[in-house]
Amino acid sequence: MSPSGLRKGWRDDAWQSLTRGPWDVLVIGGGITGAGIARRAAKAGLRTALVEQRDFAWGTSSRSSKLVHGGLRYLAHGQIGVVRDSVRGREELLRVAPGLVEELAFLMPLYPGAKPGRYMMAAGLLAYDMLAGRRTNRYLSASRLSSLVPPLRTDRLTGGFRYGDAWTDDARLVLRVLADARDAGAVTLSYARVDDTLRDRSGRVVGVALRDDGPEGSGRTCEVNATVVINATGAAADRLRKGVGGGPRIRPLRGSHLFFPSKRLPLANAVGGAHPADGRPVFAYPWDGVTIVGTTDVDEPGDQAIEPRIAASEIAYLEAWISDMFPSLGLRGCDAVASMAGVRPVIGTGKSDPSAESREHVVWDESGLVTVTGGKLTTFDAIARDALHRIAPRLGGKSSSNGTPLDVLPTMAVPAGGQLEPEAMRRLAGRHGRETAEALAAARQGEMAIIEGTRNPWLDVRWAARAEGVVHLDDLLLRRVRIGLQLPEGGGRIMTRVRAIAQQELGWDDRRWAAEEAAYRRLWATAYAPPERAAQDAG
Ligand SMILES: Cc1cc2nc3c(=O)[nH]c(=O)nc-3n(C[C@H](O)[C@H](O)[C@H](O)COP(=O)(O)OP(=O)(O)OC[C@H]3O[C@@H](n4cnc5c(N)ncnc54)[C@H](O)[C@@H]3O)c2cc1C
Repeated sequence: MSPSGLRKGWRDDAWQSLTRGPWDVLVIGGGITGAGIARRAAKAGLRTALVEQRDFAWGTSSRSSKLVHGGLRYLAHGQIGVVRDSVRGREELLRVAPGLVEELAFLMPLYPGAKPGRYMMAAGLLAYDMLAGRRTNRYLSASRLSSLVPPLRTDRLTGGFRYGDAWTDDARLVLRVLADARDAGAVTLSYARVDDTLRDRSGRVVGVALRDDGPEGSGRTCEVNATVVINATGAAADRLRKGVGGGPRIRPLRGSHLFFPSKRLPLANAVGGAHPADGRPVFAYPWDGVTIVGTTDVDEPGDQAIEPRIAASEIAYLEAWISDMFPSLGLRGCDAVASMAGVRPVIGTGKSDPSAESREHVVWDESGLVTVTGGKLTTFDAIARDALHRIAPRLGGKSSSNGTPLDVLPTMAVPAGGQLEPEAMRRLAGRHGRETAEALAAARQGEMAIIEGTRNPWLDVRWAARAEGVVHLDDLLLRRVRIGLQLPEGGGRIMTRVRAIAQQELGWDDRRWAAEEAAYRRLWATAYAPPERAAQDAG
């Protein structure tokens, strides 16, 4: 097995290694920002550790729109730097991560009076393509558009544009970046919470106080010293900054999505359009067997340590857009299989419109605590390189290595043939990276079959339970495989088979399984369930 794997006993090993510091770089936060920095740091030959309070990718990085994109709308807000980094990041990820980051065509229908109009959009798309260095956009007639998207409202449709962006599985992207980091020597530990920073006499941060929140860790604690401590805790970044005297800077903005069975909203491409209420762009797009509709952009005053959830007003907002774009479908929130909310770590400047706040990332050094937040999933490697460049003087000049944002897989690692279709093989290799051959070899009879309603073969469940660091059942069903977002009842109807595969691999007795399943079902009902039909009818 490659060092990237997390097999039985891995948490104890990682805990022991952590206590044996000191470290050059200690990263707090196992989202895409922390993962990207840990990977670059380890590749630069720095002794690197990363700790995450919950599961890897538990935060915003598993709750995004799952698009690897330039963010066309940021052009309208003049955020050229974000768009440039994003389209470059997208092109690079498409090149190095086939099967994990894939092209997706976007269609933008035009209606009279809607903004931006035809010429403004043409200019925006031209600039967008120029930043990427390749032309993807094209004007389409109304009849061509409606043949591509049969449920689209044709009333007053004048035509539209097609352009290219990409999609990914956000949680799996984080996991692959972390696997690269471990292959380069980093130690990573989930369910390990930083309660506070440690400071020397002059007040400079020299380490952290860590608590093991894993089920078998029974709250053990330790102090971990590091030359540089990086606060990559996303929307929660102000909490650790407060300890070094930093005032509040983050404006947490919630964005929510609804996941529909693709039969109810069948789309081969992404479709975007201005919301009838406020003109914000909203999108519907195919994602791994379902159709996603999103997103919203509202202030999130809640506790960042609690799972965010979609609000009734956001459901109504998304429903209004769906009925404006696809009126013939009569689609409502209660037709969805799941919902999901995430919180953007945006730097607040007091703008009245949340969507006008900049999506640029920041790197702040406050008494030695280096906070890296903001930015986007798509720009993780640009953020990582910037962070490494900024901390290099404190590390004797060692800086980020050159190279790609993900290790390009040697072709030898992907066995040809097998019982999977070529597209499923490509997907598997994209998600499992160097471990693809081992994951395939672990499959038992019938586990090459695809789980109905998803694109995952059953072997993904076995491999995740065996070697991907699953600590609780929601880690498996919401972030290793995304059954909780793709199937009714969060996959509750196929739980018997999931259990038959996963329980033994996880080493859980019947009591533990029952407790985990009950906790998962409760979590899903509170934070991921779609609105209930009866409640919507009554409302
Ligand atoms: C609705 C929505 C849609 C989006 N869509 C896109 C998109 O399509 N494309 C795109 O490129 N970007 C998108 N983004 C932006 C992108 O998702 C975020 O910028 C990115 O995921 C932030 O990653 P992060 O690692 O900084 O934060 P997070 O992913 O939140 O990671 C921070 C981690 O720190 C951990 N943590 C917090 N406190 C502690 C502590 N004390 N000790 C240990 N660990 C701690 C948290 O548990 C968390 O896992 C979207 C964001 C949202 C909200």
